[in-house]
Amino acid sequence: MSVAPDALGPTVCVGEILVEIVATTIGTGFREAQPLIGPFPSGAPAIFIDQCGRIGGAAAMIGAVGDDDFGRVNLDRLRRDGVDISAIAIDPFMPTGSAFVRYRADGARDFVFNIATSAAARFGWSRQVADVVDRAGHLHVMGSALSMPNAWDVIEKAAQSIKGRGGSVSLDPNLRKELKYDDATRSRFVRLVEMSDLLLPSGEELELAAGTEGEAKAVARLFEKGVSEIVLKRGAKGATCFERDGSRTDAAAFAVNEVDPTGAGDCFGGAYLTCRRLGMPVQQALTYGCAAGARNVTRLGPMEGAGSREDLDAFILSAKRLGE
Ligand code: ATP
Ligand code: MG
Repeated sequence: MSVAPDALGPTVCVGEILVEIVATTIGTGFREAQPLIGPFPSGAPAIFIDQCGRIGGAAAMIGAVGDDDFGRVNLDRLRRDGVDISAIAIDPFMPTGSAFVRYRADGARDFVFNIATSAAARFGWSRQVADVVDRAGHLHVMGSALSMPNAWDVIEKAAQSIKGRGGSVSLDPNLRKELKYDDATRSRFVRLVEMSDLLLPSGEELELAAGTEGEAKAVARLFEKGVSEIVLKRGAKGATCFERDGSRTDAAAFAVNEVDPTGAGDCFGGAYLTCRRLGMPVQQALTYGCAAGARNVTRLGPMEGAGSREDLDAFILSAKRLGE
């Protein structure tokens, strides 16, 4: 098994907690007044950990919100879905982070982010964080957290501590064209890949993580770097798991009516990782991952479609798989 069992302790995720506010019309950007809907709880790390909790894994979140309703929207949701929120700091000065998103006709997204100058980026090592890390069994890192210097300090310390007690690490590169990556971020990314047991890239992130072009070459290079399991997400084309022993497992996507694509990759990852930590074989974990991603895109809002084990079982029975 590439990842530590659930019984070793919760999966922890470190990073930005945001609200998302979605434009209800298709178009370009925010330069005129327009109808919006939200706040929805969001932030890639928060969506991921919410899906972990919802599907029945032990889960804890490290991050910060402001002392405002946008923060409470997040705390209430994560608590409801079984996530330990004891290591989420409440910043007395800064507001909760936010992301405004509008979809274009071709499916591209325009964002207005407030992350770096919000509570989302203002957390660090604390007694509560240490308490959670001391009992954690797995650390999941979202690439989006790497451009936050405070998050990196916590991630590095947590990774060492969790690996030291026999735990494991996973990474979703989650690179966004709108966010800038400096040299420090790039070198953190390289170090993180080397620390990771499980990698969850989508599209070109596979080659970026490997530093090599071509799918087969990139996979081989990542195994050389010490990764033992790679799950490549392919959107409506499903997903593929590559294991160190050379085995390859493909999973078709489920046919759904896509309402809001945000959060698919995060729900996929949360479900896949949790199923693996609960001892399921790759094929079954891929089925739950694909179901979690597909179900989530049928709902408006980034984590509104995160499903429980029962929700996903019902979804799997009722939905068709593409290409079947
Ligand atoms: P994100 O945009 O959230 O970062 P991602 O690029 O990391 O997503 P995707 O490959 O888009 O990840 O989605 C993850 C999984 O969710 C896919 O492997 C697929 O199983 C499922 N999924 C995503 N979009 C769709 C869709 N339109 N139809 C069916 N399944 C989907
Ligand atoms: Mg992604």
